Amino acid sequence: MLNGKTALVTGSTSGIGLGMALALARNGARLMLNGFGDVDGALAQVRRHDPKAIHDGADMSKVEQIETMVRHCEKALGSCDILVNNAGIQHVAAIEDFPVERWDAIIAINLSSAFHGMRAALPGMQKRNWGRIINVASVHGLVASANKSAYVAAKHGIVGLTKVAALENATTGITVNAICPGWVLTPLVQKQVDARAAADGIDNDEAKRRLLGDKQPSMQFTTPEQLAELAVFMCSPAGDNIRGVAWNVDGGWVAQ
Ligand code: NAD
Repeated sequence: MLNGKTALVTGSTSGIGLGMALALARNGARLMLNGFGDVDGALAQVRRHDPKAIHDGADMSKVEQIETMVRHCEKALGSCDILVNNAGIQHVAAIEDFPVERWDAIIAINLSSAFHGMRAALPGMQKRNWGRIINVASVHGLVASANKSAYVAAKHGIVGLTKVAALENATTGITVNAICPGWVLTPLVQKQVDARAAADGIDNDEAKRRLLGDKQPSMQFTTPEQLAELAVFMCSPAGDNIRGVAWNVDGGWVAQ
């Protein structure tokens, strides 16, 4: 279905981004990955579907590196048709204890990087009159939780940014949407499971149950594969007129 299309997924060496890259490649897109950590492992998985998948190691907190990554994608793959702004980090602390450096990093990586990626990729999409921008926001783009000031501010920001970009391109073949996951068991959340286990003096399984029990009525984690199938749907012709939505996949979190 996505044969002939190219996709750049930021933060795709792990978790949700890797799931998105795998699903887009399985559906025929040519992939550029981005992110740190196990680059070779991620590339090996994606190359089962797209043998020519490549990686760019841009740091999403650095404006020039984001611009260079988009140019690299356009040069190496011929275009950047699908941009998934997914890279993200978390830090949990009360506002009065929140390290300023963590605030700056979260706003840069979770919010500003999407602006810079779009800014770089939109002219090419506009020239070809086709594009898909999918911003991985969060339920925290729609509602708040205590001790996540920077994350909630960034995610609410990216939902607003999504709507503006969707409106600016509303008469074109470019759609811009956000996906808002609830709890997904990735390394980003495992850290919070570990912190809960330590704080409450409980084991890993009980900590997961308590995290889900606080917020996610289904008592099940959303999976990267479920989010990735939604992204593929948004990239399909059925998604041509889905514009500016913030679509939660959260086991009922935001329904409460
Ligand atoms: P993860 O930690 O598994 O993956 C994060 C990815 O981002 C990795 O590939 C990492 O290398 C990359 N990354 C981090 N900092 C980077 C930087 N400066 N430059 C380039 N890449 C960088 O996390 P995840 O849970 O898969 O999170 C992915 C996205 O999903 C994030 O935006 C996160 O906020 C969002 N999200 C996650 C959950 C969840 O429950 N896990 C819920 C809602 C939203």
